Amino acid sequence: LQAVGAVLKDAGDVTIGAVIVLNDVTRLRRLENMRRDFVANVSHELRTPITSIKGFVETLLSGAMQEPENAERFLRIVSNQSDRLNAIIDDLLSLSRIEQDSEKGGLVIQETELRGLLETAIQHSSRQAEEKNIRIEVDCDAALQVALNPPLFEQALVNLVDNAIKYSENDTCIRVTAQASPHQVVVSVADQGRGIPREHLPRLFERFYRVDKARSRQMGGTGLGLAIVKHIAQAHNGKVSVQSTVGEGSVFRIHVPRVEAGEPAGNA
Ligand code: ADP
Repeated sequence: LQAVGAVLKDAGDVTIGAVIVLNDVTRLRRLENMRRDFVANVSHELRTPITSIKGFVETLLSGAMQEPENAERFLRIVSNQSDRLNAIIDDLLSLSRIEQDSEKGGLVIQETELRGLLETAIQHSSRQAEEKNIRIEVDCDAALQVALNPPLFEQALVNLVDNAIKYSENDTCIRVTAQASPHQVVVSVADQGRGIPREHLPRLFERFYRVDKARSRQMGGTGLGLAIVKHIAQAHNGKVSVQSTVGEGSVFRIHVPRVEAGEPAGNA
């Protein structure tokens, strides 16, 4: 708590009272710490691929270029690490755009056929699902209309389905379900994957938080996918939740309130 005080005097310099202003600075300090941590995390995440690119380029320059087999392998690594940098930057830009949109008086919301949107999102990951022989089932009433921001909601679903595929074994099944009540819609993505130990669940939606850093990086993850999902849910005045059992699988849910199309979300 920060206190600022002043004595009040009348025209004849006689003390007639005092004011004390108490400012709660803990919230400001917390925000400042979060911002500092975020900048430190971003720098670290960007530096990792840059260090790798620099190392391989220098090895090539100091002679490995003459060994065609090594040269090709190293150049592939350089190319993959550049893709990684791009993926991190794309995700950071998405996050900041979602924040900006929801601060600027809300998202553009339109009445959308949810089932079609779920199917389009699944289509994005169909190649990865096929490669692992993972079946994706959709359970959503064909007539269900929901007011939402289609591109953002689709992005949230793509992130959840992508993760479900990434963190599941071959020959398993993923279920994408929508349940609607008059007041809210809950879309869930359930997998039969590795599951997540309970102690990680509270921090899972933080930027750059990963259960297994090495594995996530190796699979091309930026560590921002779930943070983006959370921001998209919040921009719709909704929330995210997760339930998981190690060895059995995980269920990620997006809960959004039902609103009329045209009603701005995100600034309520
Ligand atoms: P990443 O790019 O690493 O996948 P995310 O923000 O999408 O980042 O996810 C954060 C972490 O949560 C992942 O690194 C992974 O450890 C864990 N995770 C996310 N989805 C699942 C899932 N369906 N099953 C198991 N673990 C998951």
